[in-house]
Amino acid sequence: MNQELDFDCLVVGQGLAGSILSWLLHKHGQRVLVVDRGSKESASAIAAGIINPVAGRRLVKYPQAEACLEHARSLYADLGHDLGQTFYREQPMTRLFDRPEQQETWAKRKGAKDYQTYLGSRFEREQYSPVPANQFGGFYQHGCGHLDTRGLLAALRKFFRSINCLTERDFSWHHVSTTQDGLKWNGYTIKHVISCEGFRSRNNPYFSWLPYQCSKGEILTLESDRHLPDSMVSNGKWVLPLGGNLLRAGATYQWQTLDSLISTEAEATLRSAAIELLGTGTHLTLHEHVAGVRAGTRDKHPFAGFHPAVTGIGIFGGFGSRGVLTIPYYADCFVQLVLDDNPLPGEIDIARYIDRYATG
Ligand SMILES: Cc1cc2nc3c(=O)[nH]c(=O)nc-3n(C[C@H](O)[C@H](O)[C@H](O)COP(=O)(O)OP(=O)(O)OC[C@H]3O[C@@H](n4cnc5c(N)ncnc54)[C@H](O)[C@@H]3O)c2cc1C
Repeated sequence: MNQELDFDCLVVGQGLAGSILSWLLHKHGQRVLVVDRGSKESASAIAAGIINPVAGRRLVKYPQAEACLEHARSLYADLGHDLGQTFYREQPMTRLFDRPEQQETWAKRKGAKDYQTYLGSRFEREQYSPVPANQFGGFYQHGCGHLDTRGLLAALRKFFRSINCLTERDFSWHHVSTTQDGLKWNGYTIKHVISCEGFRSRNNPYFSWLPYQCSKGEILTLESDRHLPDSMVSNGKWVLPLGGNLLRAGATYQWQTLDSLISTEAEATLRSAAIELLGTGTHLTLHEHVAGVRAGTRDKHPFAGFHPAVTGIGIFGGFGSRGVLTIPYYADCFVQLVLDDNPLPGEIDIARYIDRYATG
């Protein structure tokens, strides 16, 4: 450890990515400073928190699903233990086919060895289903779960404050300078400054060359007048039972306007999708309606690594709609890079876009 440094790592952003990365760096003995502006509308604060290794219409498994699931389960359990709270629960998912062709996709995937852990048995249209909506049948899916992202962020914020490593303010990259001893910010000398700014990394002067593909999403928290199923239910849109008669319903995708304003159109869409899943005649009372922006990337893989020309400036972001599943594993990889200079997995290393940087 270099004693000339005030901090080994300054992490910009205390969303899920910055929080988990900072926690792991701290656990490995790094002196960490977290800077966050405290926005209540970060993607992490409003996310549903669902883990689903086989998502989307085409039922494609996330390529690193096994490593990601193993790390996620173990890290969320460790955090729960250390911070005295349960954050993560396994929760089954019932998937309803949204069109007859999806039955063929399911049959094809079910035959593949690496899908068998995730794709459970099928039920037919006429058979019992945990929800009334059952137009084309469906199947049970395993390996899913739910993280209380807000609870986790609040507990980690409290922890970072308790060890005096959280500064709640806006961070400007224009106030970072490079010196022989390391990077300088606000009078501190720091070895690494890492952007975990979510979709705002698009405006980061060091990383604006990376190809983002961000999307806005909205989610409702509702109370139902009917008993809810135990499992999450999805037919593209989903409902997530939260306990009692409360549920979350989501999510919309919109690529044009990237802001956190809620809309009456999204509310109507999500309400009718939830009623379709829970049964006609279900009465739903609105408790909360939130919107935020997912930091998606063109190739659907995160952005991680250090700047090709400015030593010590790094990025850990671009987690799209799967951060809850992927951040724990990739944060561990990033820590190995910081500590031992271990190479990152190729799929997340920003070196894959070096040509874009070189051509400006
Ligand atoms: C509607 C919606 C639903 C979602 N549902 C799910 C889900 O069910 N499962 C799942 O896995 N993922 C889901 N996601 C995606 C998930 O939220 C993200 O993958 C993950 O939370 C991204 O975390 P992050 O830390 O990279 O970014 P963010 O959560 O956006 O955090 C960035 C943080 O940096 C701070 N910040 C940024 N710039 C600065 C600056 N210059 N100075 C100071 N602070 C700064 C922000 O205030 C914020 O706190 C959802 C996203 C949305 C929008």
